[in-house]
Amino acid sequence: MPRLQCLLPRWLIQPDTRTLLEHHALVIEGERIHAIVPAGEARRQWPDADEIHLPDHALLPGLINLHCHAAMTLLRGYADDLALMDWLQNHIWPAESRHVSDEFVFDGTQLAITELIAGGVTCTNDMYFHHDAVARAALDANYRMVVGCSILEFPTPYASNADSYLRRALACRDQFAGENLVSFTLAPHAPYTVSDDTFRRVITLADELGMGIHCHIHETRDEIEGSLKEHGVRPLERLSRLGLLGSQLVAAHMVHVTDTEMALLAKQGVHVAHNPASNLKLASGLAPVAAMQRAGINVGIGTDGAASNNKLDLFADLRMAALIAKVADANPTALPAWEALQMATCNGAAALGMGDRIGSLRTGLQADVIAVNLTASGTQPCYDPVSQLVYAADRSQVSDVWIAGRHVYADHQHTGTFAGRAMQAAQRWQARIASNRTA
Ligand SMILES: [Zn+2]
Repeated sequence: MPRLQCLLPRWLIQPDTRTLLEHHALVIEGERIHAIVPAGEARRQWPDADEIHLPDHALLPGLINLHCHAAMTLLRGYADDLALMDWLQNHIWPAESRHVSDEFVFDGTQLAITELIAGGVTCTNDMYFHHDAVARAALDANYRMVVGCSILEFPTPYASNADSYLRRALACRDQFAGENLVSFTLAPHAPYTVSDDTFRRVITLADELGMGIHCHIHETRDEIEGSLKEHGVRPLERLSRLGLLGSQLVAAHMVHVTDTEMALLAKQGVHVAHNPASNLKLASGLAPVAAMQRAGINVGIGTDGAASNNKLDLFADLRMAALIAKVADANPTALPAWEALQMATCNGAAALGMGDRIGSLRTGLQADVIAVNLTASGTQPCYDPVSQLVYAADRSQVSDVWIAGRHVYADHQHTGTFAGRAMQAAQRWQARIASNRTA
């Protein structure tokens, strides 16, 4: 039987019920949370457990990154300060067609995971190519990854057409069936890169196989104008007619959305991945997050890829989301600290259909747990740890991370060897990509 781990923090935070416990223990057995009880009781009941003392720390569920392209960390800072379509068509897509391979995706994903774990992010909803390399990279690092299998109409070195992207996605799902840490979604890239026929096939397959769908929707005004010209309706209307909207869908961005569209999203149970940093950097706009929440839409937070953020820092994006929501709503009471924290934890879990496994600290859930040391000068004094976590804490204050019960980050150090290898690989890719640069 594996030894029990008994975590003894100053504060323990349960975002789903907005509960803040003091001097409680969280006991981990294997991959799950075995108990949450007062510290004294835990010591009496499990005297032989490995005690991990966290006297100045808040313990909370690992953050959930609801929209990312992990492998794109290798293109961080490659092309900045451009409009979305110029950035994609003239810089990112050409670079991807030259470099993206199994090796690129494996190394880029592990570089992302190195950064994500150190910043307290224990689960990422990804979208990219070479799905098997993403899955292998995650498993090798003991990281929880929802692998979004990108689907496009046009060819890339990975696949020649929508059919072959779909075939590879399903093969990959079969190959990794039964893995606790890895699951798969179908990820039609966006309304402007995917045809009606392909959307119909995605909907049928997702329905038959019980898979989630992950898609960029209403990111920019250009996307909406393009759809009005080509299809005569806004993208969401087109997707609604095709039957895409439902609780299996995570819609990334949703920056430009009318009241009627918000009512439709809420009615259909669509989840939204809000990406505040990416939306600011690409000048996509300010998503009306507070209005979406009032309409009853479940909203989580994503970093988007490092090529458009440029850091996979969910603590920074959580703060940014709380601030942007206030200015977008002209209302300083919009998105208070607890709600912002819920977006990055239990809301993300619900969006992934994983609310019964991750996203809070409860007996029986997977032990995806992070500890944040609040003694840094920037988080002192500490009247309210939740306020400090949302408005003041820096990701460097994350001291310890557990994923499925494994202590993957201990006292600010990765315990796995993958992180060192990922850093070396990043250096090799930097030399290779820089020497092949044409744009
Ligand atoms: Zn994206």
